Amino acid sequence: MTTPPAARPHATHQVLNQVPPLAGYDVADDPALLAAAAREGADWDDSRLHELGRLAGAAGTQEHARLANEHPPVLRSHDSRGNRIDEVEFHPSWHVLLGTAVRHGLHAAPWADARPGAHVARAAAFYVWSQAEAGHGCPVSMTYAVIPALRHAPELARQFEPLLTAAAYDPGLRPPAGKAGLLAGMAMTEKQGGSDVRAGTTRAEPVPGDAGGAHLITGHKWFCSAPMSDLFLVLAQAPDGLSCFLLPRVLPGGSRNAMRLQRLKDKLGNRSNASAEAEFDGALAWPVGPAGRGVPTIIEMVSATRLDCVLGSAAGMRRGVVAAAYYSAHRQAFGKDLIAWPLMGSVLADLSLESEAATTLAIRLAGAADRAARGDAAEAALLRVALPAAKHWVCKRAPLHAAEALECLGGNGYVEESGMPRLYRDSPLNSIWEGSGNVTALDLLRALRRQPAAAEALTAELALAAGADRRLDAAARQLGASLAGLADLGAERRSGGSGGSSPRADIVGPDAEYAARRLAGQITLVLQAALLVRHAPAAVADSFVASRLGRPAAPGGPGVPFGTLPDGIPVGEILDRARLVPR
Ligand SMILES: Cc1cc2nc3c(=O)[nH]c(=O)nc-3n(C[C@H](O)[C@H](O)[C@H](O)COP(=O)(O)OP(=O)(O)OC[C@H]3O[C@@H](n4cnc5c(N)ncnc54)[C@H](O)[C@@H]3O)c2cc1C
Repeated sequence: MTTPPAARPHATHQVLNQVPPLAGYDVADDPALLAAAAREGADWDDSRLHELGRLAGAAGTQEHARLANEHPPVLRSHDSRGNRIDEVEFHPSWHVLLGTAVRHGLHAAPWADARPGAHVARAAAFYVWSQAEAGHGCPVSMTYAVIPALRHAPELARQFEPLLTAAAYDPGLRPPAGKAGLLAGMAMTEKQGGSDVRAGTTRAEPVPGDAGGAHLITGHKWFCSAPMSDLFLVLAQAPDGLSCFLLPRVLPGGSRNAMRLQRLKDKLGNRSNASAEAEFDGALAWPVGPAGRGVPTIIEMVSATRLDCVLGSAAGMRRGVVAAAYYSAHRQAFGKDLIAWPLMGSVLADLSLESEAATTLAIRLAGAADRAARGDAAEAALLRVALPAAKHWVCKRAPLHAAEALECLGGNGYVEESGMPRLYRDSPLNSIWEGSGNVTALDLLRALRRQPAAAEALTAELALAAGADRRLDAAARQLGASLAGLADLGAERRSGGSGGSSPRADIVGPDAEYAARRLAGQITLVLQAALLVRHAPAAVADSFVASRLGRPAAPGGPGVPFGTLPDGIPVGEILDRARLVPR
């Protein structure tokens, strides 16, 4: 007897050669990450990292990530009776993701943890959990980054730091002092410009007779992410110049501060997160740092978020190459697994090298941040030069990497269900915020110009790999020459040579600015190569050096497009590090 057509799953065909979903794996099963975290002093956190890794790779978490992005936040400007409330409503899955991050201390917790390596442990966990969903990382990063800036106002830090570092997720707009845990945001960017924050028009007027230094803030901010946060650092023009203020969303008595949310941005990616246009209409705020020194104060917050940009981009690359390698190992074309075809091997190995270099550098920078936070001046100097370079280069590589990883899944990679379109849409953001590509590259010049110790720290770091690989030695010498040229140029201009009469005589000049992206790329690549040569398996280090430093640059730069590796690369060995066995 024949089966009636309705009872058959597909009347016309069997589903063949489709890849089972990549779920139920440990995201922390990542050799480059684990080795780097151990080197930088966070191996004591391994078991927690794996616990979070298994949660990040769980099917249920992937579903929360999908829901949080497919149901983006909604602005509720008024209540049913017409009162202004300025609240943002999120899908419950957002709260699950953010709550997990906070309970695992991915926000400000390391600032209250005296253990050496606490910032590294947090960085590794942030990298792992970001692979579950990137959007909710925004309030997590901002809360992490607010502490060093807030410490410029010791009384405010005394009041709020314990709540910012608490591993308690307590959403909702209530007076901060009565909550179990707090989140923080930052509002700098205005309509007329975000890079040039000194052009801000938002005003701060002292409240007459207020002993605590309260000011009334009036003006607008064009981008203000995570607007349901409890506290914001805000830049405003005070009588003594551009200054930094702490602005709570709810005032101590329970009334809402005068911060109005005008709209939410309709964004390319980062859709689970809310980014608002905000207006302050005489909102109360308290000074953080000296009057007129708003930029140097808030830059401490910006710098810490830049580390998270590098970590976030490295995490996206790892997510992309793992998905691509997994898919290629489970799908066949022309009678073989995709991964077994030589050209696919070249593409995947190239993606894996890029990812491993990004991870290794990101965790090295987290180690520098950890030691800098404990008073290590040399590590602080290294961070000052390596962080803007890496923020520029690694974040710029992420969208190219995501596009190539996506294509490894063929047409399926272009379809939402694969998760790859979200990875791709999210990928350019880390390069835009906290100083867009050009601005970060220019900040690198500023670091080299103002802090001779920064270049010295970089040279010392590279010297640790000297003699291990002649191609790396040659690249390090070339970089040394670029840095020396820059120093000469700066000295010439300061001593009144070409351009010396200009009011910006301390700036190294238009030629150096023009080349700033090249320098950022050069520093990052040499640093990545030096770290891999010292710490990665020979197959990885040698292939990275051969493809990125050891041959004349391919058109468009090293490794662009991916899949143009030189001959003789041990593809299988490299790919083993990106291949996962789902558990
Ligand atoms: C999703 C999202 C969330 C955000 N959240 C926040 C937030 O919470 N708080 C906040 O304060 N801001 C936030 N921003 C704003 C972000 O920080 C700014 O967009 C960014 O700093 C750039 O400023 P801008 O958009 O005004 O661009 P502009 O300053 O107009 O710059 C435009 C371009 O010019 C380049 N450029 C600028 N100056 C120079 C120069 N001298 N030489 C060469 N090139 C130059 C820049 O690199 C950029 O590519 C967010 C942005 C996005 C997209």
